[in-house]
Amino acid sequence: MSHGGEEYAKALAAAARHSTAWLQSLPGRPVRPEVAAHDLTEVLGGRLPRGGMPAEEVVDLLAATAEPGLMAMSSGRFFGWVIGGTLPAALASDWLVSAWDQNAGLRYATPAMAAIEESAGTWLLELLGLPAGSDVGFVTGATMANFTGMAAARWRLLSDAGWDLDRDGLFGAPRIRCFVGRERHDSVDLGLRYLGLGKPVAVAADGQGRLIPDALDAALAGGSGPALVCLQAGNLHSGAFDPFPEAVRVARKHGAWVHVDGAFGLWAAAVPELRGLTRGCEDADSWGTDAHKTLNVPYDCGIAVVRDASALRSAMGLHTSFLVHDTEGPGDPFEKVPELSRRARGVPVWAALKSLGSDGVAAQVRGMAAAASDIAAGLSGLDGVEVLNDVGYTQVCVAFGDDATTRAVTAQIIKDGKVWMSGSRWQDRDILRVSVSNWHTAGDEVRTAVDAVSSALSSVRGI
Ligand SMILES: *Cc1c(COP(=O)(O)O)cnc(C)c1O
Repeated sequence: MSHGGEEYAKALAAAARHSTAWLQSLPGRPVRPEVAAHDLTEVLGGRLPRGGMPAEEVVDLLAATAEPGLMAMSSGRFFGWVIGGTLPAALASDWLVSAWDQNAGLRYATPAMAAIEESAGTWLLELLGLPAGSDVGFVTGATMANFTGMAAARWRLLSDAGWDLDRDGLFGAPRIRCFVGRERHDSVDLGLRYLGLGKPVAVAADGQGRLIPDALDAALAGGSGPALVCLQAGNLHSGAFDPFPEAVRVARKHGAWVHVDGAFGLWAAAVPELRGLTRGCEDADSWGTDAHKTLNVPYDCGIAVVRDASALRSAMGLHTSFLVHDTEGPGDPFEKVPELSRRARGVPVWAALKSLGSDGVAAQVRGMAAAASDIAAGLSGLDGVEVLNDVGYTQVCVAFGDDATTRAVTAQIIKDGKVWMSGSRWQDRDILRVSVSNWHTAGDEVRTAVDAVSSALSSVRGI
C-alpha cells in the first residue's frame, strides 16, 4: 500500500466530502440519532479481518455506517446538557492540527504550536478577565481543567503546611479540607477523587443553587488546617453564579485556596452586560473552563488557569534528561497539564478567537443568553409550563406540573426529533433542561424550540 501523498489526498478529500454533507444536513435533520449503538456494532464490529482496506474506502465506510447513529449535537436545535457546536475556523484548524501531527508538549520541539497556544492563552486571560501572567494549560475538558487547578492547590497547600508531597506522597499528609457548593457539578468531586482528597463538604446553596457565603464561613470555621474551596461560575441547571466577592472574602479569611469551576459560565466575563455575573471571580487562585462548550471549538478542549505558576509546574512538571526544557520563555506546555504528549488543542481556540475577535466572542455569548431568555419567555407563555429558574445566562429549567408529565413531555420532545433537550432532576423535581451553547441558535431555532415543547405537551395531554 502506498504511503505517498496520493493516498492522503484521496482520504482527506473523502473526509471533506462527508464532513460537508454532514454539516449541510444539520439544519434539517432530526436531532436525535436513528439507531442505537448495538445496531451499529453488528455492522462495524465482528472479527478484525486479516487483510486491510484502502484509506479512502475506510473513510467512506465509516461515514456511511456512522451517519444514522450520530446526534446532531452541533445543530442550533440541540439544547441538551451543555454541549456547544463548532465554529468554521475552529473546525478547519482542528483538521490542520491533525495533519500537522505535532506533539505539543515541548516548546523547543514545536515552536509554532507553542507560540499559537501562548497567544491564545494571553487572549483568554484578557477576555475572561483573569490575572495577566497566570499559567494557562490546554487539557481535554473542564473535568481535567478543574483537576489541574485543584492539583496545583493541593501542592501549594501541602507545601505551605511543610509537607513534601513529591517525596512523601499523600499518606500521612495533613488533611486538606475541601468545600463545594451543594449544587456544584459532580465532576468536581471526581477531580477531588483523582487527587485523593476524598469527599468534599457540601455547603448550603440558595434557591438558584448559589453557594451561601455565611454557610461557607460556618463550615470553614468548624475545623482547621489547609482548605480548598471550589466555587462555581454557571450552575448547570439555573445558570446561576456563586457570589464571588463575598465567598472569596470568606475563603481568604480562613486561608483557603479558591478554585472556580467556570466550564461554561466563565465566558460571561467576555460580555460587558453580563460581566457582573463573574465579578470577583478574578480574585480566585485557579479556574477551569471549557472551550468546547461556549466558545464552540471541537472536542476536546478544556482550559486550566492557575495564578501561582510555580504551584502548577511543581504539580505537573517533570525533569528528565531526554526532554529539552524551555529555560528562557514562559515554560513548556507539558508543565501546565497532566499529559506529556498531546495534540495542539489550543490551536482551534486561537482560530476561534481570531475569527470572532473580542466583539464576536461577546456577540456569541450574548446571543446564547438572549436565546435562552427568549425561549424562557416563549415557554412561560404556554399553558401548563412553569419556568423554574431566574434566567440570567444560558440555562432554562422547566416543569409541566407533576414529575410524570414532565418526563413524558421530555421523552416526546426527543422522539419528535425537531430539537433535543435533556431531562434532569433539580430541587426535588423532574425537569426539562434547555441549554443554549451553540453559535447557530437564534430566532428560528428559538421558535422551533418553543413549538417543539408546545406540540409535545399537547400530544402528551392527548389534544
Ligand atoms: C460540563 C461541565 C463540567 C465538566 O466538563 P467536561 O468538559 O465534560 O469534562 C464541569 N463543570 C460544569 C459546570 C460543566 O458544565
